[in-house]
Amino acid sequence: MDLDFDRQHIWHPYTSTLNPLPCYPVIRADGVHIYLESGEELVDGMSSWWAAVHGYNHPALNIAAHQQVEHFAHVMFGGLTHAPAIDLCKKLISMTCDSLQHVFLADSGSVAVEVSLKMAMQYWHARGEKRAKFLTLRDGYHGDTFAAMSVTDPDNSMHSLYKGFLPQHIFANSPQSGFWQPWDPKDLDDFHSKLKQHHHDIAAVILEPIIQGAGGMRIYHPEFLRGVRELCDKYGVLLILDEIATGFGRTGKLFAYQHANIEPDILCLGKALTGGYMTLSATLTSSHVANTVCGGQAGCFMHGPTYMANPLACAVATASMELLETNQWQQQTQQIEQCFADLLPQLAEHPRVNEVRWLGAIGVVEVTSAVNMEIIQQHFVEQGVWIRPFGKLIYMMPPYISQPKHIEKLVNAIETALNKPECFVA
Ligand SMILES: *Cc1c(COP(=O)(O)O)cnc(C)c1O
Repeated sequence: MDLDFDRQHIWHPYTSTLNPLPCYPVIRADGVHIYLESGEELVDGMSSWWAAVHGYNHPALNIAAHQQVEHFAHVMFGGLTHAPAIDLCKKLISMTCDSLQHVFLADSGSVAVEVSLKMAMQYWHARGEKRAKFLTLRDGYHGDTFAAMSVTDPDNSMHSLYKGFLPQHIFANSPQSGFWQPWDPKDLDDFHSKLKQHHHDIAAVILEPIIQGAGGMRIYHPEFLRGVRELCDKYGVLLILDEIATGFGRTGKLFAYQHANIEPDILCLGKALTGGYMTLSATLTSSHVANTVCGGQAGCFMHGPTYMANPLACAVATASMELLETNQWQQQTQQIEQCFADLLPQLAEHPRVNEVRWLGAIGVVEVTSAVNMEIIQQHFVEQGVWIRPFGKLIYMMPPYISQPKHIEKLVNAIETALNKPECFVA
C-alpha cells in the first residue's frame, strides 16, 4: 500500500498532518479478526468504534448488501420510498419503547444529534415558545458537527477554540456514583438546580444514558437517569437520549435506558445500527413531538439529507436487526461481562491503574498517566490485538461474538502494557 501517499495527503482522525502517527494497513477482516498487510492477525477489541457488533465479513450482512445492490443502491427519499426503509423502521419501532413511533433516517450519529436538537427547537417554536438552550452533562460526547459539539464537554471539544461560533448551552456536573456503587442522591443536585433556574429557556435535556463514551468512558448509576426523567417531567422539558454508542445490546440491555426503566422523548441511534457496515443513523420520537413539530408554522420538519434512508445501508441494518432478534447478543454480552468481572479487578491492583470498570461488553482500564499512543499501539499490534486507547483510558468494546479466549488475549495485552513504562507519558 502507498503509505507515503497516505501520510502526505490523507487526514486521519486526531493526528497531525505535520508528523502523523503511524497507520496500520488492513487487507481483510473476518469475525473478530483484523488482518494487516504485514501478515499480522489482530483480535479486535474496538468493534471499529462500537459498530461491528456481529464481527466482520458476516455472511448475513454480506447477502443483504449484495441483494440490495442488485436492485438499486440509492434513490432520493423525497417523494419516493422503498422496502429497505420500511422494513428497517418497522423493526426500530418494535424494538424500542412503545411511545417512539416516528423515525427520521440520516447519515451519521452527529447528524442524528443535530436532528434531535432541531426537533426539540421546532417543538417549542410550534408551541409559540422560543427556547434556545439545551441542558447537558460535563464529560459527555455527542459528535463533531457544530450543534453536536456545542453540547459535548467544553474542555474535550475545545470550546475555547470555537468561542463566538458555538452557541452556549448549560452543563451540569456528571454523576459520580458508578453503576455498581451505592447511589448518592446528591449527584442530581447540580442538574436539578440548573434545570430549575433555566427551564423556561431549555428546549431539551440531552445526554448519554448509563455510559458517557468518548467523553471519558464513565459508567454511572441508573438512579441518576431515573431522576433526570422525573425532573424533565416536573419542569416540562423534553428528554433526548443519545444511544448512538450504547444502543443495540452493548450495555447488556438492548437499550441503555432500560437499565432505568424510563422512556425518552427523542432517541438517537447510529454506530451499531448497520452492524459496522456503513454509516446510517435514526432519530426516533413520539407522535406527540412529531405532530407538534409538524403542526407548527413550518408544517414539516426542516431537514432532508441527500442520502436519507440510503437503501443499501437500510438493507444491511435490517439484516443486523434480524441477527439481534435471535437474542444471542444477550448471552454473548453476559459472557463478555463475566470475563471482564473475572479479569479486570486483578489489573486494579497495578500501581499504574487508577480504576477499572465494566458493563455488558464494555471494559475500561483507567491509568494514572496518559498513554504514549505510538508506542502502546505498536505494543498492542505486537501482542496480536487491536485496542486504541485515548488519554488515560484503555478500553475494550469487542464484537459480541468474542469468545473468552479473545477477551483474555485483550486483557493480557493491556496487562503487559502496564509493565512497560515506555507505553506511557512520564
Ligand atoms: C460516536 C457518537 C456520536 C457521533 O456519531 P458519528 O457517526 O461519529 O457522527 C454521537 N454521540 C455518541 C454518544 C457517540 O458515541
